[in-house]
Amino acid sequence: MLKIKKEAVEEIKRQSEEGYPYEICGFMLGNIDYQNNIRECTEVYQVENQNKERANDRFEIDPKDYIKVEDYADKKGISIIGIYHSHPDHPDRPSQTDLMFAQPDMSYIIVSVEKGKAVSWKSWELDGDKFKQEEVEII
Ligand SMILES: [Zn+2]
Repeated sequence: MLKIKKEAVEEIKRQSEEGYPYEICGFMLGNIDYQNNIRECTEVYQVENQNKERANDRFEIDPKDYIKVEDYADKKGISIIGIYHSHPDHPDRPSQTDLMFAQPDMSYIIVSVEKGKAVSWKSWELDGDKFKQEEVEII
């Protein structure tokens, strides 16, 4: 399950609305309790969506950004616990492409943005080779 700070949720929604009609993306940072499968998100870190051609329905993260965020997290003694992105004018369900790039032990928040307003969001985690909706607790 995912525990996430209210401020982090607000920030993800704000970025999703600001980036509309394009997909925005970023990292969720915090702590992972592998034994109990609990990820706790204390802050978020937005990175640029590298996919310019299809930025309305695809997102790509520059490997350099990945390293940059990992360094930042290391210095603070926290970890990358997941990735968030927005779906402009699409539901908050993962796409085939989202599934292709998903990794285990990570949370994937997807925000549905309709006409510039963040209307809903869900968190997903891998369950074998599929996504399943993840239980979320706002802290
Ligand atoms: Zn997606």
